[in-house]
Amino acid sequence: MDIQVGNIIKLKKQHPCGNYEWEVLRVGADFRLKCMGCGHQIMVPRKSVEKNIKGIR
Ligand SMILES: [Zn+2]
Repeated sequence: MDIQVGNIIKLKKQHPCGNYEWEVLRVGADFRLKCMGCGHQIMVPRKSVEKNIKGIR
């Protein structure tokens, strides 16, 4: 799957704030994602993102 900076991706896992969508801030071995619900930022290994992604908006 081709994920680029600026994409909004939807993950299977729900953030505690109730949101499923994340903005991609950085790609690489690790992705930096920003929660569209609460603005929280996380670093996630690429593998984990590819396993949990439902789609790109
Ligand atoms: Zn959140």
